[in-house]
Amino acid sequence: KKHYIMAPGPTPVPVDVLLAGAKETIHHRTPQFLEIMEKTLDEARYLFQTSNRVYAFVSSGTGAMEAAVTNLVNPGEKAIVVVAGKFGERWKEICEAYGINVVEIALEWGEAVTPEQIEKAMKEHPDAKVIFTTHSETSTGTVIDLQAIAQITRNTDRVLVTDEVSGLLAEPLKMDEWGVDVVVAGSQKGIMMPPGLAFITLSKKAWEIVKNNKCPRYYFDLRYYEENYPDNPWTPAVNMIYMLNQSIKMIKEEGIENVWERHRILGEATRNAVKALGLELFSKRPGNVCTAVKVPAGLESKKITKLMRDKYGVTIAGGQGKISNTIFRIAHLGYVSLFDTISAISALEFTLHELGYPVKFGEGVRAAMETFHKEG
Ligand code: PMP
Repeated sequence: KKHYIMAPGPTPVPVDVLLAGAKETIHHRTPQFLEIMEKTLDEARYLFQTSNRVYAFVSSGTGAMEAAVTNLVNPGEKAIVVVAGKFGERWKEICEAYGINVVEIALEWGEAVTPEQIEKAMKEHPDAKVIFTTHSETSTGTVIDLQAIAQITRNTDRVLVTDEVSGLLAEPLKMDEWGVDVVVAGSQKGIMMPPGLAFITLSKKAWEIVKNNKCPRYYFDLRYYEENYPDNPWTPAVNMIYMLNQSIKMIKEEGIENVWERHRILGEATRNAVKALGLELFSKRPGNVCTAVKVPAGLESKKITKLMRDKYGVTIAGGQGKISNTIFRIAHLGYVSLFDTISAISALEFTLHELGYPVKFGEGVRAAMETFHKEG
């Protein structure tokens, strides 16, 4: 059966990216590999819109989050953490694992932190130098106004860290222009690769802290990555670097502004489609990574995702954490086109109908098509 991945990671991987990895694995300290590594990391800066160096870890996205925490904060110090979903919770858990004193901006899941809330926490805690945010909170389908938040932190001694594991390429990000200090990302989302690589990039302001930070760390100690750059302090994921090279090439060919715009339109079409089916969005500030939809009364998230996957070959995501039964999430992330989205919505219509929810076939699809036509 043909499968469609419409979950917020791992996302579909283009054949050209897969094939780029299907090459002989060469030794990582050879000039041949170092040349590829240097060129690829250099070009990766485009994805973040930064002139800062990008470092690649052999890990999932959470590894890059742990790197951000351990390189920037010390046990016993304060850090401001926005928690409005599962991945905000993860920042908090990592901080707590290292004995960091978490100043939590605790929001309802589905809400987006405001610049005013950040400003207030900064005023109340002048000794909290680092602020951890989640640009796209995947668990609730919410995007925050990162640019406005960076406006508040940029000319201060505070360091703004943002989790772009799902947001990168789906939500506009101009790291340098906006003044964001630290960005972490993963390979298996907007970058259109399999899971296995994570990324971090840091401003000069952030590096000043990293250099002397005392928090215990080893594998993720950024000083080793900087000293050895572009060589990796340990064995890099050689074949994944080939793949990264190819995916950057494809993203450059499309143009990052067009990639952002494609995601915006896919998000808009999906939101309009589910609304046309009489469904409700979960998020107060929906983003373009995935659309979180409230499960209609009488239905179950698990049954919807299972039927869609087993019968129609469309993988969407259920909810996570404390809202796992409240929502389901249709992603529009990475290597996704309007026809993938239309397929997912038609599968949703079949599924909801079969589960007893009243559906007029084509209403969601029509709303999506009209959005594509209008935004085109
Ligand atoms: N942050 C966000 C916003 C995510 O969406 C994810 C993955 N869903 C992670 C962090 C964790 O990434 P990983 O599973 O690759 O460790």
